[in-house]
Amino acid sequence: MIWAGEYDGMEERPLPSPGSPELDVLPTEAHKLLYAYLYERRADPPTMREIRAYLAKKLGEAPAQTDRRVRDLRDHFEVPAVRSGRDYRYTLTGWSKVKKDGSRKGLSSRVRAEVLAPKRCAQCGRTPLDHGVVLVVDHKVPRDWGGTDDIDNLQPLCEECNSGKKAFYATYDHYADEIAAAATHPEPHGRIGELLKAFHGDWVPSSLVGVVASMQQYQEDWQKRLRELRLLGWSIVSTRAKDSTTGRVNTWYRVERWEPWPEGSIRAEVARRDPSNKRNKRKD
Ligand SMILES: [Zn+2]
Repeated sequence: MIWAGEYDGMEERPLPSPGSPELDVLPTEAHKLLYAYLYERRADPPTMREIRAYLAKKLGEAPAQTDRRVRDLRDHFEVPAVRSGRDYRYTLTGWSKVKKDGSRKGLSSRVRAEVLAPKRCAQCGRTPLDHGVVLVVDHKVPRDWGGTDDIDNLQPLCEECNSGKKAFYATYDHYADEIAAAATHPEPHGRIGELLKAFHGDWVPSSLVGVVASMQQYQEDWQKRLRELRLLGWSIVSTRAKDSTTGRVNTWYRVERWEPWPEGSIRAEVARRDPSNKRNKRKD
């Protein structure tokens, strides 16, 4: 397979059936067994608990070993964890769109050119011409956290800012599946709330909240959506500190208490509880 660098309109390579020689890219027979299991369950994707139970039964494997195999599989295949009710389900969706050198094969040269057009790092403002920096295309929300290749999720960063951001995000990689699942919530309140919960009481930079809030649909006023969570009984505290992902002093948020989501629309429930909502004011 030749990766030419221009992939617009390129046909998706179909998933190989279990037993196919194409699966020799996987390091061990145990990985192939895991692949076969996920392949058979594409219509009804398993939870991590089910995957662990399956490999424990077949191979007597410890859970941590199974978790590692799932990560290995992602070197070759897309296996996003998608939230379904209380669970995360692991769905085999296709070949990985990441090349061996870590770069994406999904971005066309046209998209890259458009992202890099400002010729300036989106964080520190340095330019190749004046400061000799090298600009790279950065995913605001990393791919592993559910970030897409949409132009809204891409920005030009100098290599230095990019590696600083990567190092910060790497410290939260163990929450990657929960963060990715948060981004799939259909309502902005849900994406923000689930993201704060995914950090398990750690501070979340506003730069990340803003991007995850906007992932299904752009949110101009995501701060308002975040404040509205308090109407649902949530306790969220904020502080000002340097954001190592942007280099600027920024607001950070932390959830201290949360409530289950309402049965129906969150937005409707927020409106019902909003004291400034005219419909909720009693007539004198
Ligand atoms: Zn920079």
